[in-house]
Amino acid sequence: MNDVNITIIGAGVVGLATARKISGTYDNVFLLEKHNTFGQETSSRNSEVIHAGIYYPENSLKARLCTEGKNLLYNYCEKNNIPHRRCGKLIVATTPEESDIIEGVRLTAMNNRLTDLVMLDKDEIAELEPSVFAIKALWSPSTGIIDSHSLMKQYETDTINNGGQIAYNSEVSSIKRTLEGYELTVKEADGKNYSFTSRFVINSAGLTSDLIAGMVGIRDESIKIWYCKGEYFRIIPPKNRLLNRLVYPVPHPRLEHIGVHVTVDLAGGVKLGPDVKYLDSNIQDYRLTPSKQEAFFSSARKFLPFLEFDDIAPEMAGIRPKLQKPGEAFRDYYIMEESGRGLPGFINLIGMESPALTSSLAIADYVFKLVAI
Ligand SMILES: Cc1cc2nc3c(=O)[nH]c(=O)nc-3n(C[C@H](O)[C@H](O)[C@H](O)COP(=O)(O)OP(=O)(O)OC[C@H]3O[C@@H](n4cnc5c(N)ncnc54)[C@H](O)[C@@H]3O)c2cc1C
Repeated sequence: MNDVNITIIGAGVVGLATARKISGTYDNVFLLEKHNTFGQETSSRNSEVIHAGIYYPENSLKARLCTEGKNLLYNYCEKNNIPHRRCGKLIVATTPEESDIIEGVRLTAMNNRLTDLVMLDKDEIAELEPSVFAIKALWSPSTGIIDSHSLMKQYETDTINNGGQIAYNSEVSSIKRTLEGYELTVKEADGKNYSFTSRFVINSAGLTSDLIAGMVGIRDESIKIWYCKGEYFRIIPPKNRLLNRLVYPVPHPRLEHIGVHVTVDLAGGVKLGPDVKYLDSNIQDYRLTPSKQEAFFSSARKFLPFLEFDDIAPEMAGIRPKLQKPGEAFRDYYIMEESGRGLPGFINLIGMESPALTSSLAIADYVFKLVAI
C-alpha cells in the first residue's frame, strides 16, 4: 500500500492545471514544488499570450492541445473572473517575400482548423494599428492575453478545494522504483529529507524534467532538454500607448521561434521579444544583455517606424525547455506514460515550451487520461 496515490512534481502552470484536474476525481493527490510558492520559473517569465494555434504542424500535440486549450482557457477565465483580453494579433509582412510567407502561415492554420484568420491589406491594418507599417497582415482575432499569476492562483485554489495537497519548499531529490509504485525522497527548505511512496508520479518539472526522468533511470538523448533563453525589451512610455494589439513579424522557417514581436499586457505595458539564444549549459541564467538593444531596435523598427533607439530598455528573460536541438526540425511535446520503459505509472511531461500556458487545461485533460487506476 502506497502513502500517496498520485504525486505531481512541479507547480508551474502545467503541474498546477494537472493537479487541479486530477484532484477533481482522485483522492490523495500531492503536488510538490521546490520553491516557496508556485510559478517561480518559466510560468512567470513568458509573454502571457493566449495563442490561437496558428503555426504548429497539423495533428501535432502542440497544435491540438493549443486549439483545444485556448477555448477551455477562455471559458475558464470567464467563469473564474481571471483578467484576460481577446485583443487579437497581427502577423505582419513588410516585403513581398514576407507576404508569401504569411500566406503559408494561413495554410498551416487552416490545416489546424483555424478558420477565423483574415488577410488584411494596408488600409485595413491602419484601421486596427495606425502606427504599424505593413504591406499585408494576417489577423488572428482569437489570440489574446492573460494574467498568468491569477490563472495559477485559481488552479491552486481549485486543487486545494478538491482536497489535493500542495507542499512548497519541497524538492524531489531522488526517486526509486518499488513493487507497487515509486519511493520519492524530498528535501525541505531546512535541509531535512523525508521519503514516501506513491503509486503514480507525474513529472511536470519544466526545465529540469529530463533530470527527474534520469532519477528513475531514463537516459535518453532524444528527451534531453536544451535551455534556450529569450530576452525582452520594454517600450518606454509614452510610445507604448501607440500599440493596442499583439504584432508579430513572419515566423522563423524551422519554428525555432516566432520572431521578436510586440506583446501588450493587461496593464498597458508593451514588450518586444523574446529573442532566441541557446545556452551553453543548463544553468538558469536570467541575466539581461543591454548590448542587444541595437538588434531589438532594428528588428522591431521594420514594422514600428515610430520607434527610436532610446525608446526601449531591457526588461526580463525566460528560458524555454526545448527538445529541439539548435538547427533541428520541429519537435513536439513528450507526454508519455512510461510502461514501455518498464516504469508503469510514471508519466513524463518534457519539452513543455510555448504554447503550454495556453494549452494548460488541455494538457491536464490529456494527462488525466494516462492515469488509469
Ligand atoms: C520567453 C518565453 C515566452 C513564452 N510565452 C508564452 C506565451 O505567450 N504563451 C504560452 O502559451 N506559452 C508561453 N511560453 C511557454 C510557457 O511559459 C511554458 O510552456 C509554461 O510556463 C511551462 O509550464 P511548466 O509548468 O511546464 O513549467 P515551469 O513553469 O518551469 O514549472 C516547473 C516547476 O517545477 C519545479 N521543479 C523543478 N524541479 C523540481 C524538483 N526536483 N522538485 C520539486 N519541484 C521542482 C520548478 O521549481 C517549477 O516551479 C513562453 C515561454 C518562454 C520561455
